[in-house]
Amino acid sequence: MAHKISEDCIACGTCINECPVGAISAGDIYVIDADKCTDCGTCADVCPTGAISAE
Ligand code: SF4
Repeated sequence: MAHKISEDCIACGTCINECPVGAISAGDIYVIDADKCTDCGTCADVCPTGAISAE
């Protein structure tokens, strides 16, 4: 299991500094590395567009 970023991502960069394991990569739409993600939920809590959810 890992969290995932949807097309609602506006690439604001808020989540990338919050991830405790460095699983998030920047891009037109940010991406979460499923192998690193621990499903802590921190990024989903800070995303202003609600683009991040558990799969
Ligand atoms: Fe990082 Fe936690 Fe978000 Fe997974 S759920 S990408 S570990 S902040």
